Amino acid sequence: MRELVQLDRDSLVSTLQDLRQQLRFQQALGIADYPLNEDVRRFLEFTGVSARIRPRSAGPLPPSGPEELMTGPAVLAALQQEIGQCTLCRLAPGRQGTVPGQGPAGSQLMVVGDWSSQEQVCNPEILFGPDEDSMLWRMMEAIALRPEEVYVTNILKCCPGAGQIPDQECQESCFSYLVREIGAVRPRLICAMGDLAVRMLVDNLEPLVRLRGRFAMYSFQSMDAIPIMPTFHPRYLLANPEMKKAAWKDLQAIRGRLDQSGSLKRLSG
Ligand code: SF4
Repeated sequence: MRELVQLDRDSLVSTLQDLRQQLRFQQALGIADYPLNEDVRRFLEFTGVSARIRPRSAGPLPPSGPEELMTGPAVLAALQQEIGQCTLCRLAPGRQGTVPGQGPAGSQLMVVGDWSSQEQVCNPEILFGPDEDSMLWRMMEAIALRPEEVYVTNILKCCPGAGQIPDQECQESCFSYLVREIGAVRPRLICAMGDLAVRMLVDNLEPLVRLRGRFAMYSFQSMDAIPIMPTFHPRYLLANPEMKKAAWKDLQAIRGRLDQSGSLKRLSG
């Protein structure tokens, strides 16, 4: 019995030491607090090796009719068709397929990644990659956002074929589709995930690790400026799970900003 008590005491001390180390690490990242609920725990513990989730339920976009031409859903439907036939850049001939953005017009949050990374067969429903999408939806769940509240898209709408590396020309050619998506969706906030999305949307050449966590503003022509949060791509978080704590801080900032703009909208409405 004495031995058992001793063992418990030793493991308790070791657990407390681990906990203290973990807290110091988080403090160094600037994380002061986070309410741990089941969804947050699932995101922080997710390693990408569990069962994949496909929570998308937004469904196909409605066909466009002449009277609807200017509405968000009709613009998105037209864009999907256009992207499917696009040959604007050198990715077109060897691409595995096209992956247009998904989600409803009017989504409060738009998430932008780089491109859909898939092997052999291209499934247009896989937005970032099979494991990356699971991580993405866990991130959204952690801030209480359902798939029908989020529009997800990429800088490049083609899923590159084997050996194809998208260059700057491809990125710039494809960017016009993103601008049109932003105009059609009119999100309250944009989350740019990963180096490419941040470089294309944020007018600042500092590395992502320095830009993340701070809101920038995205504005284009006559569009109202939209707050944009740079953060890590789910692919990077799968490879570097220790950075999920920092990403969690960015997600909390997004949640806070959405709540704030929702309250302001209710007050003015
Ligand atoms: S990457 Fe974009 S611009 Fe290039 S072919 Fe695909 S859809 Fe067109």
